[in-house]
Amino acid sequence: MIRPLMEESLVLLKPDCLEGRKCGEVLKRFEEAGFEVFGTKMMRLSDEILREHYAHLTDLPFFPDIQGFMQSSPVIAIALRGDNAIVRIREMVGPTDSTVADKGTIRGDFGQDKMHNVVHASDSVENGQTELKRFFAEDELFS
Ligand code: ADP
Repeated sequence: MIRPLMEESLVLLKPDCLEGRKCGEVLKRFEEAGFEVFGTKMMRLSDEILREHYAHLTDLPFFPDIQGFMQSSPVIAIALRGDNAIVRIREMVGPTDSTVADKGTIRGDFGQDKMHNVVHASDSVENGQTELKRFFAEDELFS
């Protein structure tokens, strides 16, 4: 029998999620899908952490806009784990552009556009580990 892989993901509830009071609804969806929270905190994103987290975007002309958006309020970082978490969470979140995301996905239901898209979720097992270390100290994650 093929056993599903237990994986770990960093989810960020972005400023539009907080402003729209959707944090509870988003977390409820992840919990109801079977994912377990093993760390969480509210934080303001420094220039440094944002440039690291979005290193693949820093050369793009709209990076300052992304930075402005992501620093417009604190965000909530959540460490989630569960079977095949990376792909399953990304499916629940939907594509980057909220306007083309299916209804029933988090971005399709609550997102506005390409930038204001409610949540971040790690896109690979490896990035999940890197991002969790970036956002959480060792003693902020729980086994
Ligand atoms: P994802 O968050 O879906 O993994 P990316 O890593 O490509 O997508 O981009 C990171 C974030 O940068 C997106 O979630 C979005 O907030 C913002 N972003 C990406 N592409 C654009 C774009 N073309 N216009 C505006 N914002 C964008």
